[in-house]
Amino acid sequence: MSIIDQTASVVRRTETPAFDPAILPPAGHFIDGAFVEAPDAELLDIVNPASEEVITGVANGTTADVDRAVAAATKAKDSWARLVPKERSEILHAVADRIAESRGVLVRLESANTGKPVSVAGDDVDGTIDTFRFMAGALRARTSMAAGDYAENHLSVILREPLGVIGVVTPWNYPLLMAAWKIAPILAAGNTLVIKPSEQTPLSTLKLAELLGDLLPAGVLNVVTGLGPVVGSRLASHPDIDMIALTGSVGSGRAVARDAAESLKRVHLELGGKAPVVVFDDADLDLVATSLRVASFYNSGQECGAACRVLVHESVADQLVDRLVAQVRELVVGVPDAGDDVEVGPLVSKAHYDRVLGHLERALAEGARAATGGGAIDGTGYFVQPTVLVDMPVGAACTQEEIFGPVVTVETFSDEDEAIARANEVPFGLSASIWTENARRSHDVAARIDAGTVWVNSHLVLANEVPWGGFKGSGYGRDLSIYALDDYSRTKHVMYNHGR
Ligand code: NAD
Repeated sequence: MSIIDQTASVVRRTETPAFDPAILPPAGHFIDGAFVEAPDAELLDIVNPASEEVITGVANGTTADVDRAVAAATKAKDSWARLVPKERSEILHAVADRIAESRGVLVRLESANTGKPVSVAGDDVDGTIDTFRFMAGALRARTSMAAGDYAENHLSVILREPLGVIGVVTPWNYPLLMAAWKIAPILAAGNTLVIKPSEQTPLSTLKLAELLGDLLPAGVLNVVTGLGPVVGSRLASHPDIDMIALTGSVGSGRAVARDAAESLKRVHLELGGKAPVVVFDDADLDLVATSLRVASFYNSGQECGAACRVLVHESVADQLVDRLVAQVRELVVGVPDAGDDVEVGPLVSKAHYDRVLGHLERALAEGARAATGGGAIDGTGYFVQPTVLVDMPVGAACTQEEIFGPVVTVETFSDEDEAIARANEVPFGLSASIWTENARRSHDVAARIDAGTVWVNSHLVLANEVPWGGFKGSGYGRDLSIYALDDYSRTKHVMYNHGR
């Protein structure tokens, strides 16, 4: 591969206006339609990762808080489930309208809590609105097997019922959007819920509860803040919760599945990824490079579907690396309010920044070379250089483990079978992309790659109509689309004997 000097990126900074505390949600958990202050609660610091300043504190919830929220959700579940589809749909449309009216506040809050560029936070709010609108429509158009006599003189009818109360645990990378991906289908399917946002980024979920307080009946949506092993674990083990749905890391997925085992509740897991990007020798390399500029570095690479593991045919590897490095060096890194063209922000926390830098140090120590980037960016905020790693030793940890930062690794292959085997060798199976102009290859390789989403000549393009979820270590269950509505409901067969 060609030798390219390592460059340091700079962070575009502005005179950031002071954070306006007036946009913060009220203090406390949101239970049974109101914020419940926990005056004696220990507080968890909420930090702005671009400025490293503490914005506020939220309650470190207890199992007793979870139990109160579950009781509220249980009390509310029958009347919510009895609403006819049109009524639930109208409420979810009103929810979407309310979020749209509050777009500016939600963007500012999400950017302050996560460090996201305002363009990314804006995409998150727009995606949230569309998720509620899609589910509001989809719930009125559900289908199932035709009613009919499948046994002589017996009429079979298949009903779709809500599950009851769902426990939800969400991550910090898309706090509002991941909450919406759960809340919208769960409510659309007629369930009530208790959600625990990430202890690092709970503000937009609490704000959502505040905004929706007068639209949803009390108890239908409850929010308890706190730590995973306390609040999340109680949700997973609570006997009155019918399903636990978690988006997060593989370790947290294993923990909730273990906690859920005693009550045999359903488990819905959207876990990590390490998306292979398989580039064949006939690919449009300019398209690959410009697409990866977004798909690898969007949300600072803190994205479960990020295009982070490039496998390129050896004959075009140098050409691709040159093009990719040129794109990556043009990325605009900055604090959230430094302009609509900022593409990459800081990492979410000091702990995560240290973790990503640790991955980079190990990769370089193992013999990888940074074609660009490779370390931290000096100054305030948890900024890491957008990085492309090449010359990787076979099986290097950085090509197998989820780094979850602005880091792409590039490896080579020599034929199609090797490409498929290498794409499938990681323990994850969330998403992948293949790049080729060959129609036969595009169908065959897509079919043989073990991932819940495979893009051809594209990466990281999503829509509410299509399912999202993984195979293998990336979990099971589907977010988005009518398949999410199926996941959050159960079938019941009712059979009528009409023989004489
Ligand atoms: P994390 O697993 O550290 O935390 C996720 C949530 O789980 C948090 O709310 C946390 O408090 C909670 N949690 C932690 N331990 C728990 C336990 N023992 N019991 C119950 N809950 C527990 O993940 P993160 O660092 O917040 O998010 C990043 C991870 O999420 C990455 O692995 C990423 O790939 C994954 N992710 C996946 C998707 C997807 O759609 N598949 C989407 C976004 C993020």
